[in-house]
Amino acid sequence: MNIAFIGLGTMGAPMARNLLKAGFKVTVHNRTREKEEELASEGASRAASPKEAAQGADVVITNVSDTPDVEAVILGDEGAIHGMKSGSVLIDVSTISPIATKAIAEKLAEKGIEMLDAPVSGGSEGAQKGTLSIMVGGKAEVLEKVKAVLEAMGKSITHVGEIGSGQVTKAINQTILAGIYSSVAEGMVLGMAAGVDIYAALQAVSGGAAGCWVLDNRAKNMIEDDYPLGFRTKLFLKDLGIALETSKALGVAMPVAAYVEQLGTSLVKRGLGDEDVSNLARIVREQSGLANTAD
Ligand code: NAP
Repeated sequence: MNIAFIGLGTMGAPMARNLLKAGFKVTVHNRTREKEEELASEGASRAASPKEAAQGADVVITNVSDTPDVEAVILGDEGAIHGMKSGSVLIDVSTISPIATKAIAEKLAEKGIEMLDAPVSGGSEGAQKGTLSIMVGGKAEVLEKVKAVLEAMGKSITHVGEIGSGQVTKAINQTILAGIYSSVAEGMVLGMAAGVDIYAALQAVSGGAAGCWVLDNRAKNMIEDDYPLGFRTKLFLKDLGIALETSKALGVAMPVAAYVEQLGTSLVKRGLGDEDVSNLARIVREQSGLANTAD
């Protein structure tokens, strides 16, 4: 099976690498073309545009930042749609608007191209290890056809319904994560202010009912006030925007997500939007007078 992979960022590059490792023939394209070089040295072909990458591909995967970016790489002048053949499948693994996803799928369908929305969770670590959770919207028979491709990148692949349902499920995921990030930050600050051995406390709570991915993978950042990139704050803010827009349309109140969205807005305004989202702890630290190393 020939695969085109468009977008080699924090998530895209390791996901494309796992496809190569699984034995697929992969053609890569990235807007900043130098980012293709490492994968090319590992066996991938390179293409000058999404359109060129899509030519001859059975499956095209897009993994770029936001809704307009996905629209550009699929539907733009040099977009994948102009290279894809009828009967091929486009899988968008970015996190974008469910409404825009349906509109893109309609445009692709006019050319006989199937689409799945398949946003992922599991962080950069999950992308590297091939252990992502993938939430898939679209036709069940299309998913069946390309399941081996998703299995090379993730360990849990769940069909959640029609096209757009994957993005709604991802909005649920990000809503839950918003509360967890801010609560883990509050817990860490409480422990540090009390002067307990915070690493011992972290180990203790990780093994109990509060145990979770953020505690295991990001609490250390919060303790050390150092936020190496896993997931950009500005992208998390984009995801919360999608979740809050959906909640408003449905009349669902989400005060915790709205609060965390405000914290994120403040971090982006301060020029910290490219840091990992665990930097929400900066604000929680400040609120309690715990020294920051930023600014
Ligand atoms: P990233 O490191 O910032 O990479 C973004 C990628 O998108 C880069 O390859 C960038 O190209 C490309 N891009 C952005 N706008 C573009 C445009 N208009 N045209 C062409 N290419 C464009 O982001 P990431 O963390 O990999 O995230 C990618 C997607 O996965 C996002 O939707 C994000 O919400 C989602 N996600 C991320 C994580 C995570 O932990 N990082 C987890 C789950 C889901 P350049 O290199 O040229 O800038």
